[in-house]
Amino acid sequence: MKTLRFDEMSLSPEFARAIKDMGFEEATPIQSQAIDIIRSGRDVVGQSQTGTGKTAAFGIPCLESVDVNNSRLQAVILCPTRELAIQICEEFRKLLKYTDNIKVAPIYGGQPIDRQITALRKGVQVIIGTPGRVIDHMERRTLKMETVKMVVLDEADEMLDMGFREDIETILNRMPQERQTIMFSATMPEGILKLTKDYQVDPEHIRVVHKEMTVPLITQMYFEVREQAKTEALCRLIDMENPGLSLVFCNTKKRVDELVEQMQGRGYFAEGLHGDLKQQQRDFVMKKFRNGTLEVLVATDVAARGIDVDDIDIVFNYDVPQDEEYYIHRIGRTARAGKSGKAYTFVVGREIYKVRDIISFTHVRIARGKLPSLGDIEAVKANKFADEIKAVIDEGHLAKYVNIAEKIIAEDYSALDIAAALIKMRLHDDSAEDIDLDFQYHDERKPKREFNDRGMIRLFINLGKKNKVNPRDIVGALAGETGISGKQIGSIDIFDDFTFVDIPKEYVADVLMGMQNKKLKGNRVKIERAKKGK
Ligand code: ADP
Ligand code: MG
Repeated sequence: MKTLRFDEMSLSPEFARAIKDMGFEEATPIQSQAIDIIRSGRDVVGQSQTGTGKTAAFGIPCLESVDVNNSRLQAVILCPTRELAIQICEEFRKLLKYTDNIKVAPIYGGQPIDRQITALRKGVQVIIGTPGRVIDHMERRTLKMETVKMVVLDEADEMLDMGFREDIETILNRMPQERQTIMFSATMPEGILKLTKDYQVDPEHIRVVHKEMTVPLITQMYFEVREQAKTEALCRLIDMENPGLSLVFCNTKKRVDELVEQMQGRGYFAEGLHGDLKQQQRDFVMKKFRNGTLEVLVATDVAARGIDVDDIDIVFNYDVPQDEEYYIHRIGRTARAGKSGKAYTFVVGREIYKVRDIISFTHVRIARGKLPSLGDIEAVKANKFADEIKAVIDEGHLAKYVNIAEKIIAEDYSALDIAAALIKMRLHDDSAEDIDLDFQYHDERKPKREFNDRGMIRLFINLGKKNKVNPRDIVGALAGETGISGKQIGSIDIFDDFTFVDIPKEYVADVLMGMQNKKLKGNRVKIERAKKGK
C-alpha cells in the first residue's frame, strides 16, 4: 500500500516540527490510513502488529482535535498496563513539543492518588490511563467523562485478556453518546467484535497485516545448538557483538528465572521480566533497562508486551516461540524508529521444523549462523583492548606507572614481556573451555536436500545403521583418511542400509579416492556421488 509523507498530511507547523524532531520520515502504513479517517470523525477499528506506529496513528489526530481554549477533559486513552500508559504519554509529549496549552497526564494504579488528583484539578485535556484507576477517579469525580469527545482503546485485545471488559464498559457508558470511539488491537477475537458492535457507530476497519516498517531492517539468523549449550551460546554472541541492549525471550517464567540467574552468575547485568513479578519490581527492571544500566533483559512473551524501548540491538529467541505470530511480535522489539537490529534464534534438534514454518509464514530470510568460537571473541576483545591501551597512552600522565615498569625491567624482564603479560591477564579466561557449540540436527528418516548448502555435493556411502555406523564414525573416517576437517563436512543422513553425506565441492575428488575400499566398522566402504532424486 502507499504510505504518505507527513508533509502531505497538512499538519500544523507545530506538529510537523515535532514529528521531524522525533526522526519520523514518512508515515507508517497504519498511520497513512488511520490519521485521515480519524480526523474525519469516524469510529475506527485498527488492526496491526506491535511496532507499526499505532501510538502516533491515534495520537496525532487526537491531539489535533483538542480545543486549547477549553481546559476540560476531552480525550481518554485506555491501555492495559502502567508501562504503556507512561510510554504513550511520553510519545504524546514529544508530539506536543511545540504546542502550548494542551495538558496530558498518565493515570495508573500504584502511584499515590492524591498526586494524580492535584494534577487533574489543574485541568487536563487528555488522559492516558489503565481502566481500574480511571474508574477510581470517575467515582471520586476527579475525572468527569461528560465532556469527552474521543476515546481510544489501545491494545484492546490485551485489555480484554486481562479482564478489563467490565471496567471498559463502565467507562464507555459514562461518556456522551456523540463521541468518537477508536479501537486498536493486534488481534480481532470475538470479544473485540462485540465491543465494536456495542460501542461504535459504523466503524471503519483498517487492517495492516504485515509489519512493513520494521521487518526489513532486521537481520535474522538461527543457530543450531544443544539445549545445555544455549547459555554459553548466548554469552558468546553477546561478547562477540557487544550490543547495548539485548532482549532475550524464554517460553516460560521458570526458564526466565533460571537464565537470569545463570547470566548474573557469569557477570552480566541481566534481569528478568514476567507475570509473577510485583508491579514495583517490574518498574525497577524497566527503569534500569531504559537508563542503560541493564545489558540483558530476559522476558516471557506476555511480560514483554508493552515494553517499548527503542534501542534494543538484538532480540534473542532463547527458546523458539510456540507460534509464528509470536516470532513477529518478538523480533519487532528491535530495529525500531528506523534503526537496524538483529534477531537470533536458538534451535534445538527437531525445532528446525518450526523455524521453517516461521520462514514460510513470514516470507523472510532466516539464515543459518555459526556461533563464534572463544578464539573469535578473544580477537574482538583484543582489538578493543588495544584501542583502549592506545587511548590511555595518548592521554599521558603515566610517569608513576613508568616507574613501576622500570623496576620490573631492572629485574631483567623485557618491556614486551610485561606488556604481553598484562594483556593476557586482562583477556585470557582460564575457566573458559573452547567447545565447538555448533550442532546440526540430522533427521534420519528423510534426507533434507533443502539444507544442502550451495557448493556442497551429496555422496552416497554403502553402509548404514545395520552396519552400526554413526555420524561420529563417518566424520572420523573422512577426517582421518582425507584432507577434509570435521567442520567442513555438511549434513550426514544415516539410513538402515546406506548413508548420505554432504561434502564441499572442492573435497569431493579427495574424499572419493581417500575413502574408496577403506574399512568402516569392519566393512569395506563403497562411496560415490549420490544419484539425483535421492
Ligand atoms: P505500536 O503501538 O504499533 O506497537 P508504537 O506506536 O509504539 O507502535 O511505535 C513503535 C516505534 O516506532 C516507536 O519507537 C515510535 O516512536 C516509532 N515510530 C512511530 N511512527 C514512526 C514513523 N512514522 N517513522 C519512524 N518511526 C516511527
Ligand atoms: Mg502500541
